This record gives sequence, C-alpha cells and structure tokens, in this order.
Amino acid sequence: MLKVYLLAHPAGHSLSPAMHNAAFAALGINAHYQAKDIPPEALAAAVAELRAPEVLGANVTIPHKVAILPHLDALSDTASAIGAVNTVINQSGRLIGHNTDASGFIRALRELGGVEPRGQRAVVLGAGGAARAVVYGLLAQGAEVALYNRTAERAAALARALHHLGSVRALSEGELADAVRRCTLLVNATSVGMAQGASPLPKGLLPERGTVVDLIYRPARTQLLAEAEAAGLATQNGLAMLALQGAEALTCWTGREAPLAVMLAALNAALHS
Ligand code: NAP
Repeated sequence: MLKVYLLAHPAGHSLSPAMHNAAFAALGINAHYQAKDIPPEALAAAVAELRAPEVLGANVTIPHKVAILPHLDALSDTASAIGAVNTVINQSGRLIGHNTDASGFIRALRELGGVEPRGQRAVVLGAGGAARAVVYGLLAQGAEVALYNRTAERAAALARALHHLGSVRALSEGELADAVRRCTLLVNATSVGMAQGASPLPKGLLPERGTVVDLIYRPARTQLLAEAEAAGLATQNGLAMLALQGAEALTCWTGREAPLAVMLAALNAALHS
C-alpha cells in the first residue's frame, strides 16, 4: 500500500487524514494518509523516511513548515517565494518541497466563494505563516493588500519581503479602522477566533461591502464571520482553503484530479463528528 504522511506537532486534531483517505477511496488508489506527531528533534529522521519507494509524499504543518527546508532536495518556485513548505513530493527518493496554501486560498476564494481576486482591495489580519501564503497568493493574482498585525514589526517585515510582487503595505493601528471599512475583501489569518466569542477586530468594525474570509474552521462560524453574516456580507471559513490546498497536494502526489466534493464532504463529516 502507498503511504502519505502528515508531519505535525501536535497531530491529533487534524482533519486531513479523513479528507485524503476519502479521496484515495473515491479514486480507487490503494494509499493511506496518516498523521504523525513529530517533535522538532525528530524531524530529520521523519523526513528521511519519506524517501522510501512506497511513500508518495507528505504534508507538513506547525511547527515544521520552515524547519523542513534544509532537509529537502529542491523547492518549487512557489515554496521558495513563500519561504515555507506544506507539501513534499517523493520523486524516486528525491524530495521536492512545494506549497499549496497560497493557491488553495486563491482557488477557495474563486471556485467556492465566487470572488475574483484581481482588483480586490484586501485587508489581511496577521503576519504568520498563513498570512504569508495569503498575501503571496493575493499579490500574485493582482489584488492590492494592506496588512495589520498585533506585532507591527512582523507586518512591516512581511510587506517588505513581498513588496516586489505588487501593492502591499503594513497598516498602523490608527489606519486599521478606515482600511477595514473601505476594503472589499477582509481575511483573518490570525488564530484569534478559535476561542468562542473572540474576534480579531473590535465589535462593529467590518467592511462596508464585499467578502470576509476567516482561515479558522474550528469553530466553523467564528465571531467575525457571525458578525459579517449579520451585516449582510459574503463569508467563507477556513474549510474551503483546507480542502483546496489538500486537493492540490493530492494532485501533486498522484497526478490525478482531486475529487473536491468528496473531500469537502469528508471534512464536514469529520468536523462535526
Ligand atoms: P502563526 O504563524 O502562529 O501566526 C499567528 C498569527 O496570529 C500572528 O500574526 C499572531 O500575531 C496572531 N495572533 C495570535 N494571537 C493573537 C492575539 N491574541 N491577538 C492578536 N493577534 C494574535 O499561525 P499560522 O500558521 O499563520 O495560522 C494562523 C491561523 O490560520 C490559525 O488559526 C490556523 O489554524 C489558520 N490556518 C488555516 C489554514 C486553512 O487551510 N484553513 C491553513 C493555515 C492556517 P503576532 O505576530 O503578534 O504574534
């Protein structure tokens, strides 16, 4: 049987095994996806095991997305521009690092949200790994991005790092409210909202029109999304990006078109079980 692993720490709460195993079954591929809890000191050995002939590849998540870089043989252009890897492809013992987070976010926005990124005036909250992929994806598609983060210097550094790709700037606290009201796309790429009732923005501060995306999927409806829905804005939670980054990864490992509807159904079932 072929194998795909998720290297994470902790790994217990991942929905990816349910999503990918449902996809392998639907495609009739004799493969199994398994989450492995890999502490940082065990990463090198875990990566070495990915070179085995029965391993198609792996997903990589917190805290290994950057730490894995020196253990790989090559990076795709996207992974190297983002500076992080979420997908590893085993090409006859040679490990290629790729990143499907940015394209997964863009495809989720376009294909599941009906939003064309080009020309959007986006505000992205956060400056961690997820924000980096989102900003990269939006700039590559021709959106204009303003970034806000609790730690201002991280937002400024991210804006500087991706400046060559398009129009991106870091917002000061004083600029945030006006930028949010005037934007057409608001993306929460912070972890604020995982706790029930917590929101990355003060109550009542929302865009006047457009779409609000929260990368969080647990809970499925964060406080931010509930407020946006109540204000009549279009919304999308993080399940859409999770499904599309997974769909792209599955195609990298198998060369097959991913069964997106099956993957979304498996994610929803796993989330609500
Ligand atoms: P990360 O690298 O740890 O970044 C966390 C971000 O959240 C930072 O910008 C941090 O700000 C901010 N933050 C944390 N606590 C905060 C607080 N109390 N107040 C204000 N800001 C706070 O994490 P990540 O990998 O980017 O993930 C961020 C979120 O995206 C997580 O909820 C994750 O589950 C989600 N995510 C979803 C998908 C998907 O497929 N749907 C994919 C990746 C990530 P500072 O810089 O100030 O610390």
